[in-house]
Amino acid sequence: MFEWSQEQLMVRDAVRRFIEAEVVPHIDELEHGDLPPYDIVRKMQATFGMDQLARDRFAKQLDRKKNGQVETDAEREERAGDGGAAAMTLIPIIELCHYCPGIVTAMGVSLGLAAGTIMKQGTPAQMERWGLDLLTFDKVGAWAITEPGSGSDALGGMRTSARRDGDEYVLNGNKTFITNGPYADTVVVYAKLDDGSDTPVRDRQVLTFVLDRGTPGFEQSAPFRKMGLHSSPTGELFLTDVRVGRDHLLGETEGTPQGGRDSAKGNFVTERAGLAAMALGLIEECLKLSVDYARDRMLWGQPIGDRQLIQLKLAKMEVARLNVQNLVFRHIELSAAGKSLSLAEASAMKLYSAQAASEVAMEAVQLFGGNGYMAEFRVEQLARDAKVFQIYAGTDEIQVTHIAKDLLAR
Ligand SMILES: Cc1cc2nc3c(=O)[nH]c(=O)nc-3n(C[C@H](O)[C@H](O)[C@H](O)COP(=O)(O)OP(=O)(O)OC[C@H]3O[C@@H](n4cnc5c(N)ncnc54)[C@H](O)[C@@H]3O)c2cc1C
Repeated sequence: MFEWSQEQLMVRDAVRRFIEAEVVPHIDELEHGDLPPYDIVRKMQATFGMDQLARDRFAKQLDRKKNGQVETDAEREERAGDGGAAAMTLIPIIELCHYCPGIVTAMGVSLGLAAGTIMKQGTPAQMERWGLDLLTFDKVGAWAITEPGSGSDALGGMRTSARRDGDEYVLNGNKTFITNGPYADTVVVYAKLDDGSDTPVRDRQVLTFVLDRGTPGFEQSAPFRKMGLHSSPTGELFLTDVRVGRDHLLGETEGTPQGGRDSAKGNFVTERAGLAAMALGLIEECLKLSVDYARDRMLWGQPIGDRQLIQLKLAKMEVARLNVQNLVFRHIELSAAGKSLSLAEASAMKLYSAQAASEVAMEAVQLFGGNGYMAEFRVEQLARDAKVFQIYAGTDEIQVTHIAKDLLAR
């Protein structure tokens, strides 16, 4: 794949029209954190029939789970078609990121991480209880692994505990930086099993639980104030003697010792590939705004676009756009072939795209001069939003470790 197909371009244009009508008029409210993004996402789901598609997909996944089936490569290829499935997921992500990467973050965490984990690890009853409402976005989900004392060492450093008490588990701990944390109805929480043995906390088994908003002992903070990404609410979760039955433990079994660890790592590839699509949208927008500004801004009787130093900035932005677009196209092609990126490839894709988006957005601010520093000209918001790409879903430094580990193991 080296360019979008006609059908994909038509979808892109329809998504653009939706964004111009439903997102752009609310940018200020979203940016000031006054408007949580959820109603916009629901409207988008309904406009493009994504909620019905989610229902259909849910029914098939549930059926497969009930019959104990695992999707074969052939079925996966058939589902992927001409790469359409991945492309149709990524196009709205790219387009929304022209304006609002925060909406994509809030949406991606709920649909991809929270619903995705429940659909993968849950029993049929758990899928029915929590999965469908999340997939249709009737309910908002959060996915909580990070803690104040862990972060990049998310699994080893985790201290949130789950102690068995008769038929129940008692959960205690804190989670922080949780996307949708303040508003989520359904939260996937990772915790270490405290079975009273003397296994060091670092090595204890990781379990995955689902908590409902309003469960006694479970508190959700107000949104944090942040540098950017204001349209994605982020907060803390506090668990104080939260009692849940085994029906809240995903899979309803403590399973293999690595269960929860594998579940967390299983999300890395999709999350990292999705981030490259986010970076592409943001880069495309910064480039477009910069080219327009370079044409219009007159100094010494000439547009600044006539100056070679400005041309160099535009050229470097275009190189970044092409490279990130090619990475996204490669991911779409692989999906169409029923294949997926390795963890090292997804990490390389995320590392490059996140850095490219940050650099392009900061250069756009520079090209705009004083106007670049003013909110009205929008590159200021995009630069603040782009920075988080280098931090969440694994920092730049952590991507480097995953790439290097793979190279050195060959
Ligand atoms: C807006 C936002 C939304 C988020 N949403 C979620 C969410 O929904 N759910 C969730 O669970 N988490 C979420 N996170 C948390 C995010 O994944 C973490 O912030 C991230 O993994 C980094 O952890 P940390 O902030 O604790 O930094 P730390 O791990 O403390 O890192 C500090 C610095 O040390 C560096 N460092 C760490 N380890 C190494 C190493 N081995 N070698 C070299 N350098 C290293 C890091 O790269 C970084 O520069 C979110 C974060 C943000 C900012």
